[in-house]
Amino acid sequence: MEQRKRLLILGSTGSIGKQALDIVGEGEEFELVGLSAERSWQALIEQASIRGVERVALVDLDAASRAAESWTSGEVLAGPEGLVRLVLESGADLVLNALVGSAGLGPTVTALGEGIDLALANKESLVVGGELVCRLAEATGAAILPVDSEHAALHQLLSGQGAGCVQRLTITASGGPFRGLRREQLDQVSVEQALAHPTWSMGGKITIDSATLMNKGLEVIEAHHLFGVPYERIDVLVHPQSLIHGLIQLADGAMLAHIGPPDMRVAISYALHGAESVQLPIEPIDLARVGALTFEPADEDAFPCLRLAREAAVAGGTAPCVLNAANEVAVHAFLAGRLPFNGIARVIEETLQAIEPEPLRAFEVLYEADRRARELAFSAVSALA
Ligand code: NDP
Ligand code: MG
Repeated sequence: MEQRKRLLILGSTGSIGKQALDIVGEGEEFELVGLSAERSWQALIEQASIRGVERVALVDLDAASRAAESWTSGEVLAGPEGLVRLVLESGADLVLNALVGSAGLGPTVTALGEGIDLALANKESLVVGGELVCRLAEATGAAILPVDSEHAALHQLLSGQGAGCVQRLTITASGGPFRGLRREQLDQVSVEQALAHPTWSMGGKITIDSATLMNKGLEVIEAHHLFGVPYERIDVLVHPQSLIHGLIQLADGAMLAHIGPPDMRVAISYALHGAESVQLPIEPIDLARVGALTFEPADEDAFPCLRLAREAAVAGGTAPCVLNAANEVAVHAFLAGRLPFNGIARVIEETLQAIEPEPLRAFEVLYEADRRARELAFSAVSALA
C-alpha cells in the first residue's frame, strides 16, 4: 500500500477545517498528525478523540490549559508558539492552513520554511506577505495549493497551458447579499443581513468580506501572487449563480471556464489531493435545470472595498498588509455592532491614507505595519462610532 500522507489541519474547528475533516473521513489516504483552533477547546478535543489524533494546539492560553486538564490521552500545545511548534514537530507532509486572518501568516511561513507543502485556505497570508511567502516557497521547493474556490479553479484551468498562451484571469463573485443596492442604501444594513450570504455558507469574517466585496479584493491579490500575473490582467466578474468560479482568456480569444457546484469540498479536496480530482459525494450540476448563467460588472461605487484593495495591491510593499489589518479591525467592529456597514470601507481608507507603504525587506516589517494599522484602525472605528 502507498504510504499515507501525514496531514496537519490548522483551524480544524472552522468552516473549512470541518469540511476538510469530512473529506479526509475514515479513508486510508491520510494520517492526521495534528489539529488546531484558537479557543474552541471542547470541539477540538472531540475531533482529536474521534480521529485518534495525539497532538493539538490552542492559541488561547486559557482554553489550552482547560483542554490539557480534561484531555489526558494527548498533548496540548499552547499559544502562537504552540501552533508554530505543532507545524515544526508533527512531521507533516502537508499542512492545511484554514486559520482566519493575518494570524495565519506565521504558520504559513513556518510550513513553507520547512519545505512542507501547504494547502492554503488562509488567503490573508498571501495578501499580507505574498512577495516574501512565494519567495520562501520557491527557495525551499514547497508547493502552495490554493483552497479558495476561484483559485483552485484557475489552478486547474492553467495547468497544461503553454507559456504565453494565457492573457487574462477572471475570478467571479456572487455579489453577496447586497448586490444591486446603492451605497446610501447600505448605510442601515444589519449584521444579520450581512451574514445571510446567498450562495455560500462560510465563517463570519469571510461572509462579511463577501458582503463588502473586500473578499474579491483580497482574492485579486491572492491570484497575483499564486499565478504571477500582473494586476492589470486580473478581472473580477459578478456571477450571482456562483457556478463558474474562474475563467482564463487565451491568446486566440477563446475563454476557458471552470464550472463546479458551490461547495467548498471540491476545492478543499483538489488541494489535499495534490491538484487531482477524486470522487466526492456531491451532486453534479444539472445545467438544463439551472437554465441561465448571468454576469455583470462589480459596482465599485457601492462597494469601495474592491477599489481600495486594488489600490493597495498596486501600491505594493506594506500597503496590502495595512489594508488587511484595517479590514480585520473594521469587520470585527461591524460584527460587534460598533461600526455601520459603510464604516468598514471608511476605516480602511483612512488607515491606508495615514500609513505610507514601505518596501518589504523582511517579515518583521510586516508585523510592525500590521500593528500600526490596527492601532490606527481602532481609533478610526472609535471616531466613527
Ligand atoms: P472560521 O472562522 O470558520 O474558522 C477559523 C478557524 O481558525 C477556527 O478553527 C478558529 O478557531 C481558528 N482561528 C481563528 N482565529 C485564530 C487565531 N487568531 N489564531 C489561531 N487560530 C485561529 O473561518 P473559515 O473556515 O470560514 O475561513 C478560514 C480561511 O479560509 C479564511 O482565510 C477564509 O478567508 C478562507 N476561505 C474560507 C471559505 C469558506 O467557505 N469558509 C472559502 C474560501 C476561503 P476557533 O474555533 O477556536 O475560533
Ligand atoms: Mg473565494
